Amino acid sequence: MNINKIIRVFPRRTNATPCDALTFTEAPTKNDLEQLAFIAFDEIHISVTFTYDLPKAEELYQKWSVLGIPVTIGGPAIGMRGEEFVPGQYVKDGYVITSRGCPNHCWFCSVWKREGDLRELPIMEGFNILDDNLLACSERHIRAVFAMLKRQSERPIFTGGLEAKRLQPWHVELLRSIGTKRMFFAYDTSDDLEPLMIAGRLLQDGGFSKSSHAARCYVLIGYPGDTMDAAEMRLKQAWNAGFLPFAMLYRNKNGEIDKSWSKFQRLWVRPWIVVSNLKIADTFNARQE
Ligand code: SF4
Repeated sequence: MNINKIIRVFPRRTNATPCDALTFTEAPTKNDLEQLAFIAFDEIHISVTFTYDLPKAEELYQKWSVLGIPVTIGGPAIGMRGEEFVPGQYVKDGYVITSRGCPNHCWFCSVWKREGDLRELPIMEGFNILDDNLLACSERHIRAVFAMLKRQSERPIFTGGLEAKRLQPWHVELLRSIGTKRMFFAYDTSDDLEPLMIAGRLLQDGGFSKSSHAARCYVLIGYPGDTMDAAEMRLKQAWNAGFLPFAMLYRNKNGEIDKSWSKFQRLWVRPWIVVSNLKIADTFNARQE
């Protein structure tokens, strides 16, 4: 499919949203309609990542239908399985997906329900890996992904998340050899802690100092039964394991959050505020000892 003939509409702009001339985040203006009327498009795709954006997506569907071109709504929010990855189509250039799906079945996650088992895809060029669980891929695939990353001019980032339980010394060596800028792990449930601590040690032994903050960790907070004290303890445990923690507020299947957690979450999402607070706590604790 030729992406130059598809208008892509995203209800929300994120860091990964493409920004070419055929990408929109709102209804078409009069000016847009005048300009687009002279170009032959095949389709309009409204791509929705988050379920809470579905009402806006439906509004956009009505507004974009005036062009008289077929309009479809798709994306993870409607449980649509991702197919072939086309660079620049639904994420901007540089972001890349080399595999989809996950062999795990975490209760709070929609990946395995939507994508099913792991599928390795043809490897396209990019520096920011968005795979659901890259480390679950075959060694052959992982090595091919790192060979591709080595060719990139930008330092690699693993936004999609690396599973601590699967991290091996040879992965760490590959991560170091390509000058990884940032990589994200996850601390979602209590059984993630031990693998996270082991992964933290492997990374530090492999040359990723804690002070570089290259190793980061999404910490799930605010799920049913969670408390702020328990969440703060997990965030600090991630830090002690060698990761810069980043709070991820739980959303239920309708995409709703518990608003009473919003203020707490804000304290744990800005890296430099988090670092400075944790360093102050470290200094205080050292003085107490
Ligand atoms: S390991 Fe990650 S991607 Fe896989 S099911 Fe669990 S949360 Fe989802």
